[in-house]
Order: sequence, then structure tokens, then C-alpha cells
Amino acid sequence: MSILFVISAPSGTGKSTILRDARRTDPQLAFSRSYTTRAPRGPERDGVDYHFTTKEDFERRAAAGEFLEFANVFGNYYGTHQSEIERAAAAGCDLVMDIDVQGARQLQKRVVDAVLIFVLPPDRTELERRLRARSQDQPEVIERRLREAKAETTQYDIYDYILINDELDAAVADLRSIIRAERLRRKRMEGPVQRVLGSF
Ligand code: 5GP
Repeated sequence: MSILFVISAPSGTGKSTILRDARRTDPQLAFSRSYTTRAPRGPERDGVDYHFTTKEDFERRAAAGEFLEFANVFGNYYGTHQSEIERAAAAGCDLVMDIDVQGARQLQKRVVDAVLIFVLPPDRTELERRLRARSQDQPEVIERRLREAKAETTQYDIYDYILINDELDAAVADLRSIIRAERLRRKRMEGPVQRVLGSF
């Protein structure tokens, strides 16, 4: 059985950078590719970064129950297709889902032993500095993101693990530790234990 890792974070926290390392270094991880109705940004490609689709198509799939979870984030739909779990299981991988807090709540109800991880910035000042440094957004968008960050952060208590991304290398090491520890849980070690027992 694949482990389902859910990772959420306020915008600008560094979640994507942390996940890039996990993608590079852990071949046992599969990364869920969401459906979204937002337009591709920059070099993003359909079927690679997201499945980009129309509002009508998304709503039809949602009504047909195709999504494990879905949410409206900043005015666009985002959803995880049920088949992502089967895809990861068939590849013998654990699945990482980069989804927002609303999606994490839905998933927690449907997959009881999903592992929920929340990434936080060290504080508001540093988050603001990072948002300004990437100079991608207008000042009013930055203000909005900071307000949303606060609202999301107050929901930290649905998550199992908290990563504070103060120093990137430390946050990356913490994520690896969480993944490793979850894989070593007794309930997930039945196979190896039985092999050891069988050798006696
Ligand atoms: P972006 O548009 O910047 O790629 O993503 C915006 C937000 O949508 C991020 O917080 C990301 O975690 C969230 N998101 C991406 N895919 C999904 C999904 O399938 N479900 C949910 N609930 N949120 C998603």
C-alpha cells in the first residue's frame, strides 16, 4: 500500500523548492498531477505540470465523482483525480499531493492514514521579504497573499507535521526524516517483519 503524503503551505513559503529536492532524491515518490482550470503560467505544459482544463470539463468530472478532493483556490478549480492513487501504487511508489488546506481537510476524511505536512515560513516579515524578492506580484497581490497566509496558518491543527522553512537544507532534511519515519511505522513493516519471522 502506498503512503499518501499531503503537503500544504502558504504561497511563498518555499514548498516547491523543498519538493524539488524530494523529487530529485527519492525515486520511491510519485507526484500527483492535479486538474486545474487556471491558465498555464510561463513554461508550464499540459499533462506535465497540471492537466489544464475548462470549467465545464472540471465540473462534469467533479459531478461524476472522479476527484479524490477538489477546491476552488484563488478563483480557479484544482482537483486530484482518483486514478493518481492507482498510478502510484502500480509504480510501487508513495504519493505526494501538493494541495491547499481545503483539499487536505477533504482528504483526511477519505484516507484516514494519509500523512499531512504543513510548511510555514519563520515569520510574517520573512514571508513578505520572500514574496517581494521573487518580484512576481503587484504590492496589492502581496498584501492579499499575506492575509491568506495568516488565514491558512490558523488551520495548522489538522496537520500531523509542521516544517518551518527557516533554512532550506534543514527543511529538506526534516521532510526526508518524516518520509523515512512514516515508512518505518510498524503497520507498514508487516511484510519485512513476516520475512524475518519466517526465517526462524
Ligand atoms: P498554483 O496555481 O500556484 O500552481 O497553485 C495554487 C494553490 O493550489 C497551491 O496552494 C496548491 O497547493 C493548490 N493546489 C494545486 N493542486 C491542487 C489540487 O489538486 N487540489 C487542491 N485542493 N489544491 C491544489
